[in-house]
Amino acid sequence: MTTSRPPNPRRRVRYLRSVEQVPQLSDREIHRLRQVEQTYAFRANDYYLGLIDWNDPDDPIRRLVIPDTQEMADWGRLDASNEADNTVAPGVQHKYRDTALILAAPTCAAYCRYCFRKRLFMSENDEARVDLDPAVAYVAQHREITDVLLTGGDPLVLSTDRLVDLVERFAAVEHVRTVRIGSKTVAFNPFRVLDDPALAAGLGRAARGGAAVYLMAHFDHPRELTPEARAALKALQAAGVQMVNQCPLIGGVNDKPQVLTDLFRAMTEVGAPQYYLFQGRPTAGNEPYAVPLVAGWRMFDAARRRCSGLSRRARFAMSHESGKIEVTGVDRHHIYCRYHRAKDPELESRTVVCRRDDQAHWYDDLLPAGAAAAAEGSSSRRN
Ligand code: SF4
Repeated sequence: MTTSRPPNPRRRVRYLRSVEQVPQLSDREIHRLRQVEQTYAFRANDYYLGLIDWNDPDDPIRRLVIPDTQEMADWGRLDASNEADNTVAPGVQHKYRDTALILAAPTCAAYCRYCFRKRLFMSENDEARVDLDPAVAYVAQHREITDVLLTGGDPLVLSTDRLVDLVERFAAVEHVRTVRIGSKTVAFNPFRVLDDPALAAGLGRAARGGAAVYLMAHFDHPRELTPEARAALKALQAAGVQMVNQCPLIGGVNDKPQVLTDLFRAMTEVGAPQYYLFQGRPTAGNEPYAVPLVAGWRMFDAARRRCSGLSRRARFAMSHESGKIEVTGVDRHHIYCRYHRAKDPELESRTVVCRRDDQAHWYDDLLPAGAAAAAEGSSSRRN
């Protein structure tokens, strides 16, 4: 539920880097969660923690940022989509011909427990770069790149001067038509935008300079859309930044058709319609947040049916190492997948029909229907 109260005036947000600093957690909880935060970093702030209903142990906002001991289960891989394979220069991934993905920042305004790039927050990781000159040079040298996606971490943790400079430098490359900024900061700390009008103004200036500038917002739950978050989105929009929303399907956070419906409707209403709902990657530490693929499709489909046209454009997809694979349907026997983007151009737009498996979480768990039939045939011949 969102409230209709007016946005709070300017305030300073206090960051917390250890569960010990969360006053609402008991000593017992802190003791249990310390081991988790030593493995998978914790970061939050008092604004976001203020959205939690602390009387509800299953509160979705709590689940999104407060660690869970089940994260320690042996499950998944740290780099579940093998992003390392697409790294072509320091801080640059080039997986799809026309798009360069830039790891522009090594931290975020808070850490989502289900993060698929949690490896970036580990001390030995240096994939996200401070010096992005090589990234700009790489994009300038590759004329096929028309889209630049700044991500991380979260680019909005950079100083305004640095972020605007970066956006302007990429936008100034002749063949770049779109600069996207993937960010959850407006959800985690809308005061980053509200307290610093130079940010919206600078991004708006960059947008008027040539390439379109998009905020790829990341709202997971309608309760994140507070009056402050709405005001921050409005300020960016008014400056000329275009917007869509994308988020994963997260067990215990937004894995209910009604929550997704409310989220999709609200994001359309604020001018950032849902773009992707991602199936959670099988990333190490993320087992408690995983939702089986078929159950996820059902929730997505039910939510989309309850929305009007703009929200219905959303796609339910897996960011797999071979491409962005959309789930387009499920019937009694099959799961229908389609390559929305493919690393190998030969796979672009290809439909793959897989045998239905209600326990499967990821594309790698599925068997193409033909292969499944062949395997069954050879096993019955053997018997
Ligand atoms: S905002 Fe994005 S990169 Fe940062 S912790 Fe959340 S999912 Fe990970």
